Amino acid sequence: MSTGTISARHYQTRQPVQVSWSDGRITAIAPATSVPSGDTWIAPGLIELQVNGYGNVGYYYDITAEDLESSIRRLRRDGCSRILLTLTTDHWSALTTKLKRLRAMRDRSPELRAGIAGWHIEGPFMSNVPGYVGAHDPEKMVDPTPAHIRELREITGSDPVLLTVAPERAGVVEATRLATSLGIRVSMGHTNASKEVIAAAVQAGLCAYTHYGNGIPQAIDRHDNILWRVAQEPGVTIGVIPDGVHVSADFFRIIHRIFDPKRLYYTTDAVHPAGMRPGRFQFGDIEMEVGEDQVVRKPGATNLSGSALRPLEGVFRAAEMLQCPWQDAWVRFSQQPADFMGMGPLLSVGTQADFCIVDQAASTVTTYAGGELRSTLPAAARMRSAGIAESAKA
Ligand SMILES: [Zn+2]
Repeated sequence: MSTGTISARHYQTRQPVQVSWSDGRITAIAPATSVPSGDTWIAPGLIELQVNGYGNVGYYYDITAEDLESSIRRLRRDGCSRILLTLTTDHWSALTTKLKRLRAMRDRSPELRAGIAGWHIEGPFMSNVPGYVGAHDPEKMVDPTPAHIRELREITGSDPVLLTVAPERAGVVEATRLATSLGIRVSMGHTNASKEVIAAAVQAGLCAYTHYGNGIPQAIDRHDNILWRVAQEPGVTIGVIPDGVHVSADFFRIIHRIFDPKRLYYTTDAVHPAGMRPGRFQFGDIEMEVGEDQVVRKPGATNLSGSALRPLEGVFRAAEMLQCPWQDAWVRFSQQPADFMGMGPLLSVGTQADFCIVDQAASTVTTYAGGELRSTLPAAARMRSAGIAESAKA
């Protein structure tokens, strides 16, 4: 049984708090009577809305329950407590078969129930145009029908579901309206929709953009392109990969000026070698190479095939690029994506005891999941430059 109490400064209020937990759930949060020794902070476990694989397990394959559990266990050890397991473009029947299988696995395992909050379905209702299609198979892209959407909701019950679509496909506006009415969050991505079509989709309930700055060609029209069109659509939540490579550091900073930072969330779009050291990884018939930059490429290729970024590293890279306290970046990788998906307040009484203790003096991050101590990892060297001085005086 996991029971405990810990005192630390709350990452958002900056005030000392005492957090108690029992049986894997938080039972009390109260102001701490004494200031914790050292420079110790408590923050919720990270929430990741786009994970295709982790720990050399790719969810795109027919994996075993043991594979999935080892992958989710590793994520939860690495500071990311809950994910939307992401399935990408496939024939609809293959995709739904996989989804049903994974959901049944999830339901049988307490660790998977704790770690897999829901599902992100990225495709097959997206653009098949070169550049916009990205690494997806253009042959498998199709137009959505109401039957697709109803089936998706039937399979997933009341789980949080994020569906990424290209609004220019026939049927997407109607599908968005139906999906939204069924509680599915609809996001655009891998799209080159016009301003008018985007506006119609937003009117129907579309509310986000998946990995802004990616899923588009290298060269785009300077006067009229999908980035500008989306930037003019107020109210849309923006996902962005904070590795400094999928989106350059300059562009990353600009995104934070164009959009309300309260409507941004960070994501890694991680594929199976994520959480591993740089090197080559074979999984099924896919070989991938991870560079020192934690970017994944097919061996010899220059285009990006996803990231091997650990979510925790993403927080500190974001803070470094923005020159802001890491706490400000942390909220965009935890509470903001949770709010966007309707997953409720994190680090509050009754929720899973999933949190991280950031010890700034020692430069370590200690992770608890379900109230159990999972790891103490040296924070990235980047942590030292990520606004530590500023947060210490806060
Ligand atoms: Zn994508």
